[in-house]
Formats: sequence, structure tokens, C-alpha cells
Amino acid sequence: MSDSIFTKIYQGEIPSEILFQDDIAFVIKDINPKAKTHLLIIPIKPIHSIMGMDEGDEEIVGHLFKIAKEMGQKLELPGYKLQINVGAHGGQEVFHLHIHLLANF
Ligand code: AMP
Repeated sequence: MSDSIFTKIYQGEIPSEILFQDDIAFVIKDINPKAKTHLLIIPIKPIHSIMGMDEGDEEIVGHLFKIAKEMGQKLELPGYKLQINVGAHGGQEVFHLHIHLLANF
């Protein structure tokens, strides 16, 4: 299977500003923002979607939420929405799990 657009970004094959990264995940700005602040929190492991989680992936997914909290603190957001689209019928377009962080601040 070919690499997802997010893996290509992580590997530097597609340009994007990586706002944060550690050994589990990274954060970029959404290219088509639907709010003043629209970030994507993405695991390095190309988990297809919530539906495609393997045993043990819950640790990775939990870590994504921790990063969301830290990004909210770093950007001093008083509140935000976190959204995960799951499957094509759930509005998912990029099949590499990600959390949208949306805020109008
Ligand atoms: P989803 O519908 O949940 O799969 O969301 C995929 C998101 O990825 C959309 O909000 C797109 O705007 C965003 N996106 C697609 N390509 C890029 C890219 N090259 N850089 C940043 N965000 C992207």
C-alpha cells in the first residue's frame, strides 16, 4: 500500500510545517482550515482509522489526546473542539488516523 499523504508529510516528501513532533505523533496545520485554528494531530504509525486500530493502539490514541491538551495550552486556547472522522461514511477522507483540533481563537 502506498504511503498516506500524512506519512509523506512526516517524511518530508510533501512540504508542510510540523508544529510539534515526538516519537509517537506529530502536529500540522490543516491545509483547508475550517476554523481560525485548525490542527491535525497524527500518529506516526499509519493506523488507517479508529476502525483499523490494532490491540495496543489505544496507547497511541491516548497520546494523541495528550498532545491535543498540550497544543491547547501552548496556544492558550480557552476552548476547542476535537473531531475524529471515522470511515468514508463518517466523513474521513485521509485514511491515516488523525484528530482535528478546531478553535475560533
Ligand atoms: P478527514 O476528512 O478527517 O480525513 O480530514 C482530512 C483533512 O486533511 C482535511 O481537513 C484536509 O483539509 C486535510 N489535508 C489534506 N491534505 C493536507 C495537507 N497536504 N496538509 C495539511 N492538511 C491536509
